[in-house]
Parts: sequence; C-alpha cells; structure tokens
Amino acid sequence: MGFLTGLLDLLYPPRCIFCRTLLKKGERAVCGKCRNELPYTQNGGAQSGDFFSVCVAPMYYEGAVRESILRYKFKEATGYAKTYGELVAGCIRDNLNGRYDLISWVPLSSRRYKERGYDQAMLLALAAALELGDVAVSTLEKHRDVARQSSMGSAEKRKANISGVYHVTDPELIDSKRILLIDDIVTTGSTLSECARVLLESGAREVLCAAIARSRD
Ligand SMILES: [Zn+2]
Repeated sequence: MGFLTGLLDLLYPPRCIFCRTLLKKGERAVCGKCRNELPYTQNGGAQSGDFFSVCVAPMYYEGAVRESILRYKFKEATGYAKTYGELVAGCIRDNLNGRYDLISWVPLSSRRYKERGYDQAMLLALAAALELGDVAVSTLEKHRDVARQSSMGSAEKRKANISGVYHVTDPELIDSKRILLIDDIVTTGSTLSECARVLLESGAREVLCAAIARSRD
C-alpha cells in the first residue's frame, strides 16, 4: 500500500459501496455480508425486450443496491464503476460469452453530461470491458433531454417520451455487428429498446444488453 493510499484510508476509511459499513482488513469495496447477501439474480435475470434479444444483470434494483446506484448516478460516487464493472463483466462472461462483437453504452445527452461531469453508463461500460479484456466504444448520441424516465409512469408513456432522441454516430462501425449495450439499470427496458431499435435500423445485426441491476417483474 502506497503512502498516499494509506493517508487517504485514514482520512476517508473505505466503506462498503452498498451498505456503507466500514470495511474490514482484506475486504475490498464490498463487505463480506453484502457479498453474501446482495439480491443476486439467477442466470443473469435474463429478460428480452422489443428490439433487443436479451438483457442480463447480476442484481435486482432494490435495497442497498438501489441506494448504491443512486449515489453512483447522482452523488459523484464514480469510484464505484470499477466494482460494478467487475460484477457486470462476471454476469456477461457467464451468460453472453461469445454472443457479441462490440461493447457500447446508452449515452447521456451532452447537456446532462456537462451538468453531471461524467457519464455513468460510459464509465460502467469501460470498466466492464476492461475486466473482459476488451474495449467499449461509443455508438450512440443522445440529441435532446427528455423528462426523466423514472417520472413517466406507464411503459407507453416511457416509450413515447424517448422516441427519436438517440442517433447512431458511425453506422459503418456497427454494420452487421452484434452489439452489447450497457446501461446502469433496467426497469421497463424502454430506453434499451429504443436504443436497440435505432442500432438495428442503422445496420446492426443484433443487440444484447447488460446492466448492474434490474427491477423484479
Ligand atoms: Zn455491505
């Protein structure tokens, strides 16, 4: 352990990224209790959507997982990306091995990116790809902001809310490719469906998805 790391640990003792308890010696990022008791999905909790063939996620979006992801998205807890990336990569390795050609992510709009200072799905995709010995590349752009999906209610409203806001940046890059699209959470799947629709329309062969967490049906 370097001097600086030691000093930082004294000033900011490392806490579990899920339940925030202080970590014991030898624990890294996640406490022993959470490692054992997080709401893990079975077989990646695989679900399909309108335009993507499958979406996998290692955990359910509830309790400490939900709290953790909210800190990651809105409270600048960007350091969580590495551990999330490891969890997502494990889930991809177990469930989607050999089924995709290219890793990408669901982007923020440039306005939201400027406000927040980081794109949480991009950080996650980069971390997961690194863990898989791969790279993640940008394929989509979000042209305008819409009301937050979580405030929209029904699936129909969510669908209408985001229709037409994503565009493919480089159709040649995705031509005939099987794209693995990464987002932070998946609830109704309407955002992933819209992104998948746009990718397919621009020439992608298939779209598969992965997230940190999904809602229970
Ligand atoms: Zn914990």
